[in-house]
Amino acid sequence: MINKTVGKRIGLMGGSFNPIHFGHLMLAEQIRTTIGLDEVIFVPVGNPPHKALQTDVTSEQRYEMVKLAIADNPFFSVSDIEIKREGISYTIDTIKELKSTLSSIDQLYFITGADAILLLETWKDYKELTQLVKFIGATRPGIDSDALLKKITQLKSECHAEIELVYIPALAISSTDIRSRISDEKSIRYLMPESVTDYIYQHFLYREHHELFAPFFQMLSQTLSKKRFRHSVETAHTARLLAIRYGEDPVKAELAGLLHDLAKEYKNEKMRDLIDEFGIDKDPAIVHLPNLAHGEVAAGILKRDYHFDDELILEAIKWHTYGHPQISSFSKLIYVADIIEPSRDFEGVHYFRRLAYQNIDETIIAFCEQCDHHLAEKQMAIHGNSKKMVMTLLNQRKNDNE
Ligand code: NAP
Repeated sequence: MINKTVGKRIGLMGGSFNPIHFGHLMLAEQIRTTIGLDEVIFVPVGNPPHKALQTDVTSEQRYEMVKLAIADNPFFSVSDIEIKREGISYTIDTIKELKSTLSSIDQLYFITGADAILLLETWKDYKELTQLVKFIGATRPGIDSDALLKKITQLKSECHAEIELVYIPALAISSTDIRSRISDEKSIRYLMPESVTDYIYQHFLYREHHELFAPFFQMLSQTLSKKRFRHSVETAHTARLLAIRYGEDPVKAELAGLLHDLAKEYKNEKMRDLIDEFGIDKDPAIVHLPNLAHGEVAAGILKRDYHFDDELILEAIKWHTYGHPQISSFSKLIYVADIIEPSRDFEGVHYFRRLAYQNIDETIIAFCEQCDHHLAEKQMAIHGNSKKMVMTLLNQRKNDNE
């Protein structure tokens, strides 16, 4: 009789995944289909034995990115086994823990780059490890195959290691390069699934001064509606681009953009109390619509509750809704970023988006004119600051033309 009881062939793909990219996914898929694996489990490393990880990206975030990246492949899954375990993430401990949850007839295959095979003897309890898993080493063009074959022969005779080599296409993508691209303002599109690119962008990962953004990012994601939060993130990124274009500080612009609407969803009653507390000028437009003061209120909250004292950023947040007659060049960027960020969808927004990168003052003038018509139609009051700001900008235009 034929014994129909066969175990599963499970591939394990360990890695830092900082961040995950198409090289990792391609490797796992090529090996899955070449070796005939039933599934591949991605195991993001918690505390790696062989390298220091960039600390501003959490293990949970690396895990989340893997989850997003593999979502469309039913043969792929992700395990948080190493992330949850305290101490150094030795592969031997992971394999033993995983084996205890599997059937004894299941076979584990550890997927790795062929370079790692050359260093296998440096791994903790490598001899025992080779008895528990089969190694699949991916070789790519450029790998010293003589040294590799010599090492495999040695490991086979020394500890009966089972090591198979699989040739995979070369994809010159690396996590290190991706991180550098992000800090150099270069595109990372098409190097990884779009869901991962979006996650990195939304969470300000791998960015200079990430630590500045993280606590505010956390606070806003918990207090704002989804739509308002997205708008804040998009305003931050747009403000950064405008700052680069106009020679202002991009990090400060991004932070001002992120924080500008933190009080936008406060109810009118709370807003009235805060207008009093912060001594905000009661322009008729604010009396009519207290929410209009959310920029000035946000600046007050940042000073009072977060001891925030960067006046450049505070001013930009204050005046992002109705402007100011002496609005600074930096504040203008936040004012405009709020109008043109990519999730905005109103008549004329494409025109403002183009104009913003050509002439920031003309963008403000044109936008205020459009608002005037709109508010007049609705018989709503215009804040005095807006009128004075436009007058100042028009006078400047006149002087420049003379
Ligand atoms: P990683 O850089 O995050 O990459 C994960 C895997 O993807 C590696 O096998 C890597 O091969 C491969 N890869 C990366 N870019 C690729 C591309 N463009 N095309 C094809 N393949 C690509 O891996 P890691 O941080 O070195 O960690 C690998 C695993 O080894 C982890 O699970 C780690 O815990 C384990 N490890 C254990 C010990 C120990 O237990 N003592 C010691 C060292 C490592 P390449 O390396 O060839 O790029």
